[in-house]
Amino acid sequence: MADAPPPAGPVDLLGLTAGQLAEAAALALPSGAGLAPKVFTAAHRHGRFAPEELPIPPANAAAWRRAFTLGLLTVVRTVEEDSEAGLTAKAVLRTADGFEAECVLIPMRTRDGATDHTLCLSSQVGCRMGCAFCETARMGLVRQLTAGEIVAQVVTVGQALGWRPRNLVFMGMGEALDNAANLFQAIRVLTDQRGLQYSFERLTVCTAGHAAGIAALAAQGWKRLNLSLSLNAASDTVRDRLMPVNRRTPLAELQRVLAAYPQRRNFILGVNWCLMPGINDAREDAAQIAAFCRPLGRVLVNLIPYNPGSAPLTRAPEEDEVVRFVAWLREEGLAVRRRITKGRSIMAACGQLGNPALRRRRASDPPA
Ligand code: SF4
Repeated sequence: MADAPPPAGPVDLLGLTAGQLAEAAALALPSGAGLAPKVFTAAHRHGRFAPEELPIPPANAAAWRRAFTLGLLTVVRTVEEDSEAGLTAKAVLRTADGFEAECVLIPMRTRDGATDHTLCLSSQVGCRMGCAFCETARMGLVRQLTAGEIVAQVVTVGQALGWRPRNLVFMGMGEALDNAANLFQAIRVLTDQRGLQYSFERLTVCTAGHAAGIAALAAQGWKRLNLSLSLNAASDTVRDRLMPVNRRTPLAELQRVLAAYPQRRNFILGVNWCLMPGINDAREDAAQIAAFCRPLGRVLVNLIPYNPGSAPLTRAPEEDEVVRFVAWLREEGLAVRRRITKGRSIMAACGQLGNPALRRRRASDPPA
């Protein structure tokens, strides 16, 4: 097989691990390997790349600039919603070629009553999975985000907005496992001890049921990484309609792939259920969820009330409908966590991300 062509321009520091940067710098620059750890830490922890400040001659600093760049994103706007649960905030971030990736900071109450924050990251601009309830699906897949652009969401909001999320979840725009190579590289970078130092337990990959991606993730051997599935329907008839990925991987096959996922002893699979009145909120649905989950070991069902977007499938559930469904799931012996709807008014809630203005734009179009 022919070697991959070298990158056209400078390489994004945010897409490399410390080891990869040291290797690349050793090849490209005099004393590159020695300075690489310092450059790496400044880029990832402080969003800074200033080779002119290094103790090297100006010509070498210029060589660093030719070889590497720092791919921070531009904050286009932020919107916030204050609620009982705390402040939920969405950041719209622009890539160098004019696309937008959105990420959402979500407050999470801890067991001891404190508040942690989770940052929900995008892995693609748009998404091709076509889930009927999802705003992002209406964009189609515009393009994949690079590993550097996935990491840049964390670094950019940290530097520009002071957001310091404790947990990261790959559940924003896009199906993360449909961009597996970039996702896996981003995870390596985010967990690098010389950089952002996230532990695997603090990261969650969420999938709509991408079987090949789940198998590829399993092959990475990251046993402490969390995985969650957006299930939303537990019969093939309904799931085929709501989530077209089910036509490729029906529930029985998905169940087999998940059962084979190597689990650490205390692994808990997250199963997300977006509760849609009249569509998936019957007693029978609760029984079908339990049947689907039975062979999967420990499972936690995250119940998320539906957020009607610009083309609603149904209304949002009433409080008593949510409470009733939670009770049915518990009757079935399932552990359930009820998610309080956060960010609905700022289009930052689950299934509400995406910029309609970018729907018809393609990656080959000139920047906006
Ligand atoms: S719910 Fe997730 S996988 Fe489905 S279309 Fe939306 S972004 Fe894609």
